Amino acid sequence: MPTIVTHAAVPLCLGLGLGQNIIPPRLLFVGVILAMLPDADVLAFKFGVAYGNAFGHRGFTHSLFFAVLIPTLALLLCRWFKAPPLKSWAFLFVSLLSHSLLDSITTGGKGVGWLWPWSDQRFFAPWQVIRVAPFNLEKYLTPSGHAVMFSELQWVWLPGMMMMSLLIVWRKVIAGRRA
Ligand SMILES: [Zn+2]
Repeated sequence: MPTIVTHAAVPLCLGLGLGQNIIPPRLLFVGVILAMLPDADVLAFKFGVAYGNAFGHRGFTHSLFFAVLIPTLALLLCRWFKAPPLKSWAFLFVSLLSHSLLDSITTGGKGVGWLWPWSDQRFFAPWQVIRVAPFNLEKYLTPSGHAVMFSELQWVWLPGMMMMSLLIVWRKVIAGRRA
């Protein structure tokens, strides 16, 4: 995985870029939670579930099925989000799916179980650029930990900030035209 905080970058940059008229704060908040949610599966290690198991790390919580199911269930909160259902669903789906997409371009660990429950096979994207984050927090204080943070800045936060800036400029241009 990239660092858990880095998974929040996708919904944060997308939501702030689109602005609160499109992505209200509550919807943004749930998007951030969903982007980090799949890694709740590291708890499986505590219960002795093997990494390669469907219920192990990067297993079913990282599947396409999960990425469709959870946003659908979250529509029960639609009124609370103060956003229309389709828009809410799409934002939450992208937020959640971004997690396993980012995991699939990390340089280590096992691939992601995208096709669960149809297959237990693990997948990687054709190229891996993000250095895999250590599970042990103390490792962040070492040079290899710094390299992980740098690669996340380079491959996630920087493109995210660029996307956010473009969306903000695009919104200003549209608003300028309407005025
Ligand atoms: Zn993950």
